[in-house]
Amino acid sequence: MRCSRCAAEVPADSHHVDCPACGGLLELIALPPGVRGHALRQLFAERRGAVAGRDASGVWRYRELLAACAADVVTFPEGNTPLVHAGSAARWAGCPTLRVKHEGLNPTGSFKDRGMTVGMSHARHLRARAVACASTGNTAASLAAYAALAGIPAFVFIPAGKVATGKLAQALAYGAQTLLVRGDFDACLSLARAAAHELGVYLLNSINPYRLEGQKTIVIEMLEQCGWRPPAWIALPAGNLGNTAAFGMALVAARDAGLIEQLPRLLAVQADGAAPFARAFAAGFASLQRVTPNTVATAINIGDPASYDRAVRSIRETNGVVISVSDDAILEAKAAIDAAGIGCEPASAASVAGVRRMVADGIIAPGEDVVCVLTGHLLKDPDAVVRNPARSNQLHEIDATIDGVRRVMGLD
Ligand SMILES: *Cc1c(COP(=O)(O)O)cnc(C)c1O
Ligand SMILES: [Zn+2]
Repeated sequence: MRCSRCAAEVPADSHHVDCPACGGLLELIALPPGVRGHALRQLFAERRGAVAGRDASGVWRYRELLAACAADVVTFPEGNTPLVHAGSAARWAGCPTLRVKHEGLNPTGSFKDRGMTVGMSHARHLRARAVACASTGNTAASLAAYAALAGIPAFVFIPAGKVATGKLAQALAYGAQTLLVRGDFDACLSLARAAAHELGVYLLNSINPYRLEGQKTIVIEMLEQCGWRPPAWIALPAGNLGNTAAFGMALVAARDAGLIEQLPRLLAVQADGAAPFARAFAAGFASLQRVTPNTVATAINIGDPASYDRAVRSIRETNGVVISVSDDAILEAKAAIDAAGIGCEPASAASVAGVRRMVADGIIAPGEDVVCVLTGHLLKDPDAVVRNPARSNQLHEIDATIDGVRRVMGLD
């Protein structure tokens, strides 16, 4: 691993997830794959039918592109998520060909499982005595499940009162020690980092470089599903910026391995109330100003994004764009995705809200090939539906009579 700040090298086989010299983020140095181009595509295609073992995983199937040891993996499996046409939500966004890659269909309901299988496999390899993370909810749910699978004790640090019900229920149900911290996500992350340094717990936050390796496969699997003909744009919600970082890494790796020729442009979408990355982009990435975050999209309610530097590189390398959208626009997009029968949690809908904005502003043409990544499942945050009766479908309470049904059907 190499420090992204001071370039110090640290053995890949260590407990460190940040630089012991300067505290900077560590990056895994991937060796170029021994197989390239057509032969590599063929190898990936052959593994697709596997029903067990690491080839059945939509992460480990692409191991030639991951800087991680693929022995002794902890896998459910994960990945293998569908790429589907966005139906009525595509029309809503003004982009009739819009497709969505539904990462909410991972084992614990978010893309976090892709990073967690790689991170937890490394924790097992290190014989970690315990694992921990700070989380807005989905990382906690994923960590708790994979720790249970691996048989390693888990500790999760969650901002009190700011986590959606479904996610909290998962962390508890899968058996993690769940610590509700009086503070925001950024306070949880500092605390988890301190616990890792002082208490010898292995940290599996998104700053953990092994997690980013796993998250690269969202893009690699998507490219394979596109027949290795990349879309023009890939849109994603952006919070702590681990995914934005991983997407850029994946696209460059795919190009260097001869899998694709052209890089799609990344569209990273933040919420107006938590938009330090969008503000930095608008100022030419001159500096990052942390903010006190406040958005209904809890998974991207982050004011001081940890993977900022690497995410800036992703946007530059892909000629990408960073914007922010209002909570209203996010909830409207969520209602459109839900009503299409697809469904997602609020943060995920930021991607589709962002595409609608870019089409309205004339930056994305209506016929362009766009893929939005839906990062989490509808059931993560059922309150977001029930709390918004103006936008969601309505309940009809009736007497138990056929007349009641007739009225709802509009037959009288
Ligand atoms: C973690 C998460 C995000 C944000 O991803 P980052 O890598 O932190 O930018 C967005 N949506 C959902 C559902 C998430 O769980
Ligand atoms: Zn360093």
